[in-house]
Amino acid sequence: MKNIDESVLKSAVSLILENKNIIIIPHHNPDGDALGASFGLRLVLQSLGKNARVIAPNDYPEFLHWLPGSQEATIWFRQRKTAIYALEKADLLIFLDFNDFGRIEKMKETIQGLSVPKLMIDHHPYPKEIADVMISDTNASSTSELVTHFIKWAGFTDKINKKVASCLLTGIVTDTGSFSYNSSHPETYEALSILLKTGVDKDKIYDNVYNNYSFQRMQLMGFALNQRMKYIPKYNTAYIYLTKEDLKNYNFRPGDSEGFVNLPLSIKGVVFAAFFMEKDDKVKMSFRSKFTFPANKIANDYFNGGGHLNAAGGQTNLPMAEAIKQFESVLKEYKADFDNLTKTGIV
Ligand code: 5GP
Ligand code: MN
Repeated sequence: MKNIDESVLKSAVSLILENKNIIIIPHHNPDGDALGASFGLRLVLQSLGKNARVIAPNDYPEFLHWLPGSQEATIWFRQRKTAIYALEKADLLIFLDFNDFGRIEKMKETIQGLSVPKLMIDHHPYPKEIADVMISDTNASSTSELVTHFIKWAGFTDKINKKVASCLLTGIVTDTGSFSYNSSHPETYEALSILLKTGVDKDKIYDNVYNNYSFQRMQLMGFALNQRMKYIPKYNTAYIYLTKEDLKNYNFRPGDSEGFVNLPLSIKGVVFAAFFMEKDDKVKMSFRSKFTFPANKIANDYFNGGGHLNAAGGQTNLPMAEAIKQFESVLKEYKADFDNLTKTGIV
């Protein structure tokens, strides 16, 4: 935890030791990292004798339901009474994998209104002041990596058993695309070493996460690649879009589009990939990039979003065709950046 002040870590440990009823909150549309960190930390807190509960803002994809503790999680979106009852009794809130109240969407007002101590552990850039104690390290691969190091720093390594390790490993594996990005710091592998020492079955976790899709999802992927992908060589960009009708035709379930945004990045020369999907009356966007191309800047400047340099997201109220048009016009402004990557031989 070399990037975090010792005083911050000490305060975080004190908050945990001094409080009994602890609520852990991951971000809206929680991913493998947000949930892995949440369920992993919950188990550790329970071994320390705490009443610990995870309240997620909304449901998450089925391919993450196997995570230990998933069945006991409370979903704010559809279990409001239980969630509020638990929050009223809470004496510590722990925010994992987000650093801005906007990321918990409709839970925001209730959570901001609670006058209990708050601890945040997160790896996203530009943290807002959302907690009394904030462990923020943008160099970390994942929040799950940070949670692993934090547990060790606090002297609770013996509480990391196979179940805890399977949660935290899931977070690290999913947030690094199985160690293909965001994973060049030795600290990531130090965390893995701690987790693997429990004897956790890494290959089984990989299988649970990546080989757990429906037939329909594979068909949708084929359709997306064949009919809904556009490649723009002069901007080193390719994107995929799916309309509501497309989703209906393939009996879409939450999580089915997981990973689609990464697919165009395997085209030689592509450094920027986008995925557009119609959701309610919005278009939700995911961006992925390679090297120094700033996916988060585009998400933040044009599409009400943000994220990491190479993995970001946003949304717009524009119809799909307009959203795509805007996206293509933004690419023009980055022509010099694309050319620069090509000229310098990076691409
Ligand atoms: P994904 O494409 O997997 O939904 O999101 C990738 C990353 O982009 C997330 O880890 C998060 O950091 C960021 N992100 C996605 N959607 C949004 C959004 O609407 N707002 C902000 N600020 N960040 C987002
Ligand atoms: Mn994360």
